[in-house]
Amino acid sequence: MKIKSVRARVFEWKGKTVPPQGNFCSNAMDLLYAPQETMSTFRFHSWTVVEIETDDGIVGLGNVALAPAIAKAIIDQYLAPLVIGHDPWDYEYLWQRMYRATHAWGRKGVTMAAISAVDLAIWDILGKSVGKPVFKLLGGRTKEKIPCYYSKLYRTDLNEMQAEAQKFLDQGFTAFKMRFGYGPAHLQKGVSENLKSVEAVREVIGYDNDLMLECYMGWNVEYAKRMLPKLEKFQPRWLEEPVIADDIDGYAELNQLTSIPISGGEHEFSLYGFKQLLDRKAVSVVQYDTNRVGGITAAHKINALCEAYSVPVIPHAGQMHNYHLTMSTLASPMSEYFPMHDVEVGNELFYYIFDGEPVAENGFVQLDDHKPGLGLTLKTEYLKDFNIVE
Ligand SMILES: [Mg+2]
Repeated sequence: MKIKSVRARVFEWKGKTVPPQGNFCSNAMDLLYAPQETMSTFRFHSWTVVEIETDDGIVGLGNVALAPAIAKAIIDQYLAPLVIGHDPWDYEYLWQRMYRATHAWGRKGVTMAAISAVDLAIWDILGKSVGKPVFKLLGGRTKEKIPCYYSKLYRTDLNEMQAEAQKFLDQGFTAFKMRFGYGPAHLQKGVSENLKSVEAVREVIGYDNDLMLECYMGWNVEYAKRMLPKLEKFQPRWLEEPVIADDIDGYAELNQLTSIPISGGEHEFSLYGFKQLLDRKAVSVVQYDTNRVGGITAAHKINALCEAYSVPVIPHAGQMHNYHLTMSTLASPMSEYFPMHDVEVGNELFYYIFDGEPVAENGFVQLDDHKPGLGLTLKTEYLKDFNIVE
């Protein structure tokens, strides 16, 4: 079997969108003097879909959501020629080819995300070629089903947040992640608002359920040091991305500071990036995303590393590619779960592009033992709502 062609297309959403409300979610732009820009950077309204075809007619599907047009250009100009004509079973060799050929300007960020998409499509081919789901090629089933946590609860009106938490508590979720709306620029008033929102969600879900807290890189070390002691009484399962991804010393300092585990990794890349985070004890929970970190070939190695360090892996975003990794290792106890809803931030856009994404039932997702590959196909229902760039 040889790879015959690589096709990367950008799916740009042009359908209806719901404008984000309120302070929504703190983020890395919040610390700049440009308040009007902060929310506009927080959008993922297009997606790159990669289809790799083999000479025996198997088509593997991969995807990447970071900087989709740039990712497509990298795939078209650099990565496709490196894999065409090769046996997809030589996936480690092909991964190293892509990584090393782009090393001078790649390594992290959008290049690694582009490599991830190609690698995902290759693994989809491998599964399809032997009639097995990808997780069966990685270690198989380690769980009856995958526990997942409800991940939305953006900072809107507190009553709305409470109603949202109640709705998904009623659907059987036992773990919830909420977003902070305020950071250092909002001064002491923002501290109070942040605490009020945690209190409001805890009031609904009680203390027998898990609560995760998300900063999305919108704080700094000094602000986090002020917040952490105030948050301890709410018993969060973790505090996520309190500072920007490059501030590894900051992560490490905060992670030693309190009993609250610090989590991160959705903006970190490759085996080397995670070795550094783990060596420095910067995070207590690893949250790579397979379609950024280097695909399944890289994520599988990072799972082994995390097992050795006894640090749990709870990948970013749910999504099929991550569920296969979570199912196949004991290092990963649960998954994130983005619910499907009207297009807002764009976190939910993959439901509009792909068929086969599992829907949570009673706080669990399930994978099919008999569905080959990743188990996704392209959805036709919403094609009219996308502008597709070849
Ligand atoms: Mg996150």
